Amino acid sequence: MASDKVSEEYGSLVFTDADMRQRLPKPTYKELRRVIDEGKDINLNIANEVAHAMKEWALEKGATHFTHWFQPLTGITSEKHDSFINPNGDGTVLMAFSGKELVQGEPDASSFPSGGLRATFEARGYTVWDPMSPVFIKDEVLCIPTAFISYTGEALDKKTPLLRSEAAVEREAKRVLALFGKQPKRVFTTCGPEQEYFLIQEDDYKARPDLILTGRTLFGCEPAKGQELEEHYFGAIRPSVNAFMKEVDDELWKLGIPARTKHNEVAPCQHELAPIFEQGSVAIDNNLLTMEKLKLMATHYGLACLEHEKPFEYVNGSGKHDNWSLSADSENLLEPGDNPEDNLQFLVFLACLVAAVDEHADLLRAAVASAGNDHRLGANEAPPAIVSIFLGDALTPVVDALIKKEHAESHGRERVDLGVPALPNILRDNTDRNRTSPFAFTGNKFEFRMCGSQQNLSDCNVALNAAVAEQCERFCDYIAAHEDLDFMAAAMRFVRHTFRDHQRILFDGNGYSEDWEKEAEKRGLLNNKTTPDALPCLVEQKNIEFFEKFNVLSEAESRARYVAAAEQYSKLLNIEANTMVTMARNLYTPAISQYSGDLASSVATKAEIGVASKTEKDLVATLTQGLEDIRVAADELEEKNVAARSAEDVQKQDDAYRDDVVPAMAKLRAAVDGMEKICAKDYWPVPSYNDMLFYV
Ligand code: ADP
Ligand code: MG
Repeated sequence: MASDKVSEEYGSLVFTDADMRQRLPKPTYKELRRVIDEGKDINLNIANEVAHAMKEWALEKGATHFTHWFQPLTGITSEKHDSFINPNGDGTVLMAFSGKELVQGEPDASSFPSGGLRATFEARGYTVWDPMSPVFIKDEVLCIPTAFISYTGEALDKKTPLLRSEAAVEREAKRVLALFGKQPKRVFTTCGPEQEYFLIQEDDYKARPDLILTGRTLFGCEPAKGQELEEHYFGAIRPSVNAFMKEVDDELWKLGIPARTKHNEVAPCQHELAPIFEQGSVAIDNNLLTMEKLKLMATHYGLACLEHEKPFEYVNGSGKHDNWSLSADSENLLEPGDNPEDNLQFLVFLACLVAAVDEHADLLRAAVASAGNDHRLGANEAPPAIVSIFLGDALTPVVDALIKKEHAESHGRERVDLGVPALPNILRDNTDRNRTSPFAFTGNKFEFRMCGSQQNLSDCNVALNAAVAEQCERFCDYIAAHEDLDFMAAAMRFVRHTFRDHQRILFDGNGYSEDWEKEAEKRGLLNNKTTPDALPCLVEQKNIEFFEKFNVLSEAESRARYVAAAEQYSKLLNIEANTMVTMARNLYTPAISQYSGDLASSVATKAEIGVASKTEKDLVATLTQGLEDIRVAADELEEKNVAARSAEDVQKQDDAYRDDVVPAMAKLRAAVDGMEKICAKDYWPVPSYNDMLFYV
């Protein structure tokens, strides 16, 4: 869109606060704001008025349907469209939308993953309006962001626990702030998700069953060129890609999504889109919409958008950095202040965060565990599977000094000056980045980098929010238990103790190195390399109790989430294994057979005229052996897959996939890729890495 249109069109497909104010009677608007800002329940009269105003607005924008838009445990979004039409009985219709329809819906829950919750409870599920997230119009449908719960109130989605965790961290952070004499109206998380993705030609995509069925290439020999020249990162953007990005921006801006940065990423054909941060749950809704738009818009330019964590071997995979902070009204709580008291408050929240990540590293790791992300974590391109925190050159000396003082005091060697350290001014525009760290302080926020590109950030933010809530509570308890000390002195002592006790999680070195793996093990840090290793902590008693305590997940919900995630892993690998076996037998084998057959005829014909071709003859033999290797490897993979699928419980299934199926997949891939290297290009049945990654 033309630049002068941007401010006019921005948010035009969102029922914004300005629309509400303009269209609702003043008392209704005020009451609705209380619902949104203070989390109050909405009564039916207000809901009816709001629904009416929304419908009138939506009809003016050409909408004919509405939907409750929600996020089942698959992580993506779901919608079922209902039209506004209401027959009058005389052959005419009225366009109607009631408060009840706005506030609650009842989709059939039985076909969404529930991790067994449905068996325990009831098949019915409800969607419940989340007034924090604005309604919007997509393809002539009024979309109402909702939470999805069972008949008995169990969360069946990603959003419900997220909202609960945000309530927990708000409650506990407000208690901390009260001790600093502050009474903010709201404390909320802020989130800025940086989304990576690949774009390839749609024709190539359609020619690869593996991309279509699994989102990644299951075969493909190493391309002649990879990302070694480092020319793609921030390089000039191709015209077709640029046109695509422009349309994406336009669409997102109309939806009120503050898309800001776009650039080429490290791998060929890889790109990134980053929005300006927003309130946590809204940012996640908007990230899901962004992912949907990226996929859809790509097709307008003959492109296919790949959001998988590892579409291609040999080049980087895609992540989604979760930039996270806490805000009290307009104050960023991870922004160091100008005076000692504000600095102390900053240090308290920083200490809480460090302790939170150390205590619940297992849950953070589990939150980003998936079959797709297993290809990234620890693969020398993304942070390792070990969770650690990078504080940066400016903050590390401050924290080190605090730890030293604490050690000195606890050994009775030195009376500690209880004053708040002066924080270096450069902290705020701290540009020093450690790209290898999974959890990095970047000046006024943390950046969690372990999330995969197709994941829903709710899972990791649920763990993070609840963990920070727990530490805030611990701070309040500590202060209460040290009434004899002056508040500043007690708070400083809490900060020093916390850094001392959680020092092991702080690491500023190279997270990709082998030394770090050894060092981390010495420090007792977890290194859960695969999804089957990472998920079981979700059902450890301590974690069940932790989520229960902060009203984030009940025991049944924790167990259900574990089962759903574990099932997802084996289901995805089953699809990958099946796809590989089919491609090996139906695509690669016939192609290699054809080529070797044609060559054999050539060898025979030449022999007839007395010309022996040793090269061709050897090649026929190699190709024939290759066919045999592929057959054996495909049979073995099929066998291992059948065995894994029939393991008696979901954990054993996952373990069998990791231990038996994944290696069998690698073997089959090696056999096929070896043939791709020597087979004539014209015979090869699918586009190669060279074709897909280096088109112009
Ligand atoms: P980079 O990490 O690439 O250097 P930036 O530092 O500009 O880029 O920020 C990356 C993302 O972090 C953006 O989406 C930005 O909006 C977001 N961000 C900035 N401040 C905050 C904050 N206080 N809370 C959450 N996200 C933030
Ligand atoms: Mg970043």
